[in-house]
Amino acid sequence: MPTPPLAGSTTGPTALRPLLDTVLTALTEGARRRDGPLPAGGPDTVTPHMRTTLTPLIPDQGTGAHHALATIVQALTEGAADPADPLCAAHLHTPPLALAAAADLAASALNPSMDSWDQAPAASTLEADTTAGLAAEIYPHHPAPDAVITTGGTEANQLALLLARERHGPVQTVTGTNAHHSTARAAWLLGLPEPLTVPAPTGTIDLTALHDTLTRNQGKAPLLVTATAGTTDTGQIDPLTDIADLCAQHGAELHIDAAYGGPLLFSPTHRHLVNGLDRADSVTFDLHKLGWQPASAGILAVPDRRHLHALHHHAPYLNADDDTEAGLPDLLGRSLRTTRRPDALKIAITLQALGRTGLADLIDRTCAAAHHLADLITRTPTLDLYDRPTISTVLFRPTAADDHTVATIRRTLLTRGHAVLGRTHAHGRLWFKATLLNPHTTPEDLRRLLDLVTHLTTELKEGSTLR
Ligand SMILES: *Cc1c(COP(=O)(O)O)cnc(C)c1O
Repeated sequence: MPTPPLAGSTTGPTALRPLLDTVLTALTEGARRRDGPLPAGGPDTVTPHMRTTLTPLIPDQGTGAHHALATIVQALTEGAADPADPLCAAHLHTPPLALAAAADLAASALNPSMDSWDQAPAASTLEADTTAGLAAEIYPHHPAPDAVITTGGTEANQLALLLARERHGPVQTVTGTNAHHSTARAAWLLGLPEPLTVPAPTGTIDLTALHDTLTRNQGKAPLLVTATAGTTDTGQIDPLTDIADLCAQHGAELHIDAAYGGPLLFSPTHRHLVNGLDRADSVTFDLHKLGWQPASAGILAVPDRRHLHALHHHAPYLNADDDTEAGLPDLLGRSLRTTRRPDALKIAITLQALGRTGLADLIDRTCAAAHHLADLITRTPTLDLYDRPTISTVLFRPTAADDHTVATIRRTLLTRGHAVLGRTHAHGRLWFKATLLNPHTTPEDLRRLLDLVTHLTTELKEGSTLR
C-alpha cells in the first residue's frame, strides 16, 4: 500500500475530497437504514453489529481508506442516537449545525495545537479574539473580560473552583441541591472541602436557606457560591441577581454555571432570563448545547483577564522567556491541557455566519418548540405537565402511572428505536424529560412523540409483556 496522503498542504484537499464523498455517502446510508432517532433492538442488537464491523480491529493487511471509512462510518451512523432527529430529545445533546461540522473538518485538516504560537500562528489570534468577544457578551460593562476554551461545563466548573482557590485559599463551595454533579467532583479533585448544599425544593436555590448557610459560615472559610443558569434536570434558572446580592452582603464569591442557559444572552427575547450573569466572578458557558456546536465547545469567562493568571505555567520548549519577550504570544496559560484542538474555529465561523439575528432565531425557535410541547401536554388529558419550561426542558408523565411504568415506557421507546427521552426525579416522582435542542422540530414531531407515549401507556395497561 502506498504511504497514505496527508490532510494538509496544497495536496491534502485533493486527497480529502473523494474520502469525504465516501464519508458523506456512509452517513446518508447509515441514517437511511436506521430510519429513526436511534437503532432498534437495544445493546443486544447494536453491540454485535458494531463489533462485527470492527473485527479484526488491526488486520495484517489494511482494508484501505475507502473500505474502512465506508463500513465503520456507516455502522456507526446506523447505530447512532442522532440528535438531528426531533425524537432524540433526552439530553443536552445538541444536533450540530452543518456549517460547524464543516468548520471542524478544517480544524482537523490543519491541526493547529493551541499550546504554542509556533503550532498555531493564526489560530492563536482567532482563539484570543473569539474568547475575548464571548467574554465581552457576558461582561459587557467590564474593561478587560476574557475567557478560556474548555472541553465543556465540567472542565469550566473545575477551572472556576481552581481560580477561586488560587485567589483565596481553600474555598468552601456552597451549591444548591440542583447544581450539576461536576461541581462536587471539582471540589473533590482540588482537595477542597465537600460543598455545603442548600435546598432547592422548587428546582432553584432557596434564598432564605442560602442566606442562613452564608451567615452560619461567614468568616470560617472563604466562601464560593455556585449558582446554576439552566439546571440539567429541569432547565430552571436560579435567582441570579438575588444570589449575587447575598454574595456581596456576605463577602462570598459567585460562580454561575450557565453551561445550558448562557447562550440565551444572544436572544433579545430571552436574554432577561439570565440577568445578573455579569455579577459573577466566573461563568461557565457551553456552546455544544444551546450553541449547536459539535463537542466540544465550552468556555469559562471571567470579568478581568488577570483572574486567569493563576493558570500561567512555564515550559521552556513552549514559552521560553526570550521568545515571549520577543513578542511570541504565550498560550500555555490558556488551559491546563497541553495539546489542544482549535475549538474556537467552529465557534467563530458560526457566530459570523449566523450573526446576532441568526443565533437569536435558533434560540427562539428552540424555546418556542418547548412551549408548544408543554401546550400539547396540557391539552392531553392522559398526561401531566410538571411545569412551564424556563428554557427548553419539558417534564411530563402519564397521569396516574407509577414510576416503574414511566421507566418501562422510556426503555421500551429506546428498545424499539422510536424515541430517546430522558428521565428525572422531581417532587418525589419519576418524569420523562424532553430536552429540546433541535430548532427544526415541528408541531407534528411533538405530537408524534406524545402519541408514542400515550399509546405505549395504553398498551402497558392492557398487560402486554414489555421490558
Ligand atoms: C452540561 C452541563 C454541565 C457539564 O458540561 P459538559 O459540557 O458536559 O462537561 C455542567 N453544568 C450544567 C448546568 C450543564 O448543563
